[in-house]
Formats: sequence, structure tokens, C-alpha cells
Amino acid sequence: MKGRKLFEKFSIIAQLMLLVVTLSALAAYNYTTQRQVFLEQLRVDTGNIVAAVRSSIVKFHATQSTMELQELVENISLNLAIFEFRYLAPDGTIINSMFKDEIGRKFAHPGLKTAAIGQHSGENIYLDVRDLTNVMAVSHPVYFKGEMVGIIDLALDISEYDGTPEAIRESSLRQMRAGIRNLLSVIEGSITNSLKIISTVDIFDFLSNYMSSSQNVLQIAILSADGTIEIGNDKKTVGSAIDTKASGQHGQIVRIDGKPVYPVIAPLGVNAASDKQLYLLIDATPYVANERKLLFTAIGTSSLAIIFSLLITYSMYRFNIERTLQENMRLEHTVKERTSEIRLLSRTDPLTGLNNRRHLDEILDYEFRRAQRYDHGLALMVLDLDHFKKINDTYGHLGGDAVLRSLGILLRTHLRETDIAGRYGGEEFVIVLPETGLDAAKKVAEHLRALIEKMAVDFEGLLIPVTCSIGVGVLRPEHAELKALLHEADAALYRSKQAGRNRVTDFASIAENASRSAVINPPAS
Ligand code: GH3
Ligand code: MG
Ligand code: MG
Repeated sequence: MKGRKLFEKFSIIAQLMLLVVTLSALAAYNYTTQRQVFLEQLRVDTGNIVAAVRSSIVKFHATQSTMELQELVENISLNLAIFEFRYLAPDGTIINSMFKDEIGRKFAHPGLKTAAIGQHSGENIYLDVRDLTNVMAVSHPVYFKGEMVGIIDLALDISEYDGTPEAIRESSLRQMRAGIRNLLSVIEGSITNSLKIISTVDIFDFLSNYMSSSQNVLQIAILSADGTIEIGNDKKTVGSAIDTKASGQHGQIVRIDGKPVYPVIAPLGVNAASDKQLYLLIDATPYVANERKLLFTAIGTSSLAIIFSLLITYSMYRFNIERTLQENMRLEHTVKERTSEIRLLSRTDPLTGLNNRRHLDEILDYEFRRAQRYDHGLALMVLDLDHFKKINDTYGHLGGDAVLRSLGILLRTHLRETDIAGRYGGEEFVIVLPETGLDAAKKVAEHLRALIEKMAVDFEGLLIPVTCSIGVGVLRPEHAELKALLHEADAALYRSKQAGRNRVTDFASIAENASRSAVINPPAS
């Protein structure tokens, strides 16, 4: 029983703990997965921004680099056998070429000098030999806003005219010159057009415009290989270095000036050879706020689970205590009841229901001492049934018992509340009358005697007539001990028996009679 209770108690605690652990784990799981989702969203958003910035920059560069010139030439000059085509910077660096691997190198060419010198108006078409092939070449400077910005170098294969008659060759070459002039004007127009567009667009403006149009981009920069800002949304930052390590690895939120930011470094990817990097700083405030909300929710859930479990445990504890208290009170009450029952039984004579001898002695002792101390009155009656042996003989022992039982009921019902009756032994009873004087005691005794005489006990259809003799004693100052008083009451009883039974005698009258007879018949001297 105890073990089972213990098990129940612990299993409930275990269940509550399980509840707390489960809810906390769920909250933690929810927190981490949601956080992952947020982080993933941030990554995707960032990736989109990077892609958008990159493609914008690529487009910008495409415009700037006039990369499309080649296509332009190919499209226009279908009727001309172009042997070489390149576009050079004023210093001879090849910006664009049919032969991609020579881009970036310097171009040395006989016609370049004349072009570089700026003989703009002059005819700079000439015959040349390139790669053992006879060509008609042109070195044509391009001017923009009065400044030479580049040189178009173009060569047409004329080897098919080798060995043809001079007249045919001359007219063909003349025709080619005209074709070259047309082609040059188209190319030049295209280049100056591109330059016009570029001149109206500044990369800084472009980047800062891009940044202000996108809500959460804090910084955009193009970095050289060593991390120096080459171009950025803020011109002032150009030349400063981005500490790529300090600004955190890609995919981590860091704090810059207390603000949560998400730095991204990705290859610029404008062309494969470039080792430039794109640097973006993205505002992570909304993400951090969301994460904080998530964390609060998780902590809140766990805390509530713990609080509820504690409340349940507490109320269970209270309930158990209450129940135990009630059980204890009930037990206590039962014990009290049993104790008083036992006490009553231990004081009571089972046959008559009156106080038994032992308790009667206690009462006598107590009342005697109390009356003595406070100088109160105290009377005693000793009551003995008359010829009880005869009753036993006539009606049997059970008949005698029936008489004793009836006497018990009579005494209990007819005595005054303050008077105490007890069975002194056999068919002899003592009645204690506290605060009672002789006259009152005599009256009570006489009243009892008369009642008993009228009693007639019903036993097995027969009526048993009963009488009793009573001796009355009253406490006097000379009574040093209870025994003396009892003795006097006994003596009075004896006198009642002697005088013929069924009567009340008080000790005082015996004493009186004795002294009177002593006067009438003085002892012989
Ligand atoms: P007297 O009038 O002189 O008192 O005569 P008596 O016969 O009553 O004499 P006594 O008082 O000496 O007799 C007591 C008798 O009471 C003796 C005993 O057999 C009887 N007795 C004592 N206790 C019980 C009892 O519990 N039940 C019954 N039936 N009889 C008892
Ligand atoms: Mg008797
Ligand atoms: Mg007797």
C-alpha cells in the first residue's frame, strides 16, 4: 500500500517532469528550426541581392567596355574580308580584338604613330604586310568631346588581287577604301554612342542609387583581390580596406557599431579572369528581432510549462496534506470516542450500568476531600436489598440479576443529577450526595426506598417483589477519614436490617438513641 502510494506520487512527478521536458524540447526545436528558416531566408534574400547587383554591374561594364564592337563589325562588313580588327587605347593597349588573347597587350604598328599624333583629317589608309599577307590597313583615331579616346585598327586581306592587272587592282582597292571609310564611320559612331551613355552614368551614382532603392542593403563595394575598396556606394570609402575576416565569414551575423549586419563577399564574376570581389553589407535587424521573438516564445513556453507543473504539484501536495489532516482528525476522533468508551466501560458495572466499585471508591475519596476542604455538606447512603439470598433461591440467579438490573435503571433514572450511585459489591450500593445535609439525605433515601418497594421486577412472567434497607451517614467535623463516615452509614444500615428491613435509618438517630438509652439505663458502675 505504502509502496503503491509512493509509486503513484513519483509517477505523477515523473509525468510532470516529462511534460516540462517535452514542452521545452518542442519549444527549443521550434526555435532552432524557425531560426534556421529565418537564416535560410536571409541567405536566399542575400543571394538574390548579390545576383541583382552583379548583373547590374555586368551590364554597366558591358556598356562601358564596348565589347560588342566585334559583333558590330562582323554584322556590317559581310562584303569585306576583314583580316584584323582591334580597338586600342590611345597608348596602344589593346582594349578589344578579334584575337582575344592579345587583349591587354600593347600594339605596335606602323600606322599607329600617325593615328596617335592625331592626323584626324588626313588619309591614314595604307598598304601593309601582316603575317606574310598583303593587307589594306587603317589606323583611325576616335575622338570624344575633343579628346582622343582610342584608335580603331582594321586590316583587309587584299592578297586575292595579287597578280591581277593593275587597272582592276586599282579600282578594287579604291572600292575597298570607300567600304573601309563607311565601316569606320559606323564603328566610330557606335563607340562614341557608348561613350555618351557611359559619360552620363557614374558607377558611384549607380551603386548608391541601387542601394537606396533596396531597403536593407547598407553598403555595396567592389573590392580588389587584397580587399581594398575600388568602387563603392560611398566615394569616401574608396581606397580603404575591408577586413574580410573581421567582418565575419559569409553566413554569419556580426555587429558593426552595435547594429546587427550580415556581410557577404562574393566573386564579382564580371569576367572569369577578374579576381575582384563584390562586398555587400546587409541589415540583419529584422532577422535579429524575429530571432529574439522566437527566443522569447520558446522561453515563455518552457516557463509556462514549469509554472503549471509546479502549480499542479503544489495543489496535489496541498490536497494530500488536506486529506492526511482530515484522515488524522477522523482517526483522532475515533480514538477519543474509543477511549471514552473504554473509560466508561472501565468505570461501569456491566450488570447495573452504575459506577463500579473501583470508580465508586475514587468518587467517594474525591467528594470526601472536597467537602472537607471547602467545608461543604456530604451525605452517604448504603443500600442493601432485603433477603436477596431468598430471591436467588426462589427465582434463580438470573432472577436475582434481573432485580439488580432493574435497580440500576431505577437509581439512574430517579436520582438527582448531582447524586452518584455505585455498586459497592453484591447487592449492596452506595449513593453519594454532595452538598447535602441530613434532612435532604433522609428525604432522598426515603423516596428511593418507597420507589423500590413499588418496583416489583418482571421476570419470566413473574413479578419479583423487592425491598431494601438504607443507612444514611452525614459528614461531620470529627470524620478524619472517609472510612469513619462509611462505617457510620453501614452501622445505620445494620440498624435498618435489625429493625425489620425495608426502612431508612440515619446514623445521627442511632447515636441519639444510644445516648438517650445510656441516660435511661446508665451502665452499672
Ligand atoms: P439481608 O436481608 O440480611 O441482606 O439478607 P440477604 O439474603 O440479602 O443477605 P446478604 O446481603 O448477606 O446476601 C447477599 C447475597 O447476594 C449473597 C449472594 O448470593 C447474592 N449475590 C451477590 N452478588 C450477586 C449477583 O451478582 N447476582 C445474584 N443473583 N446474586 C448475588
Ligand atoms: Mg441483602
Ligand atoms: Mg448484602
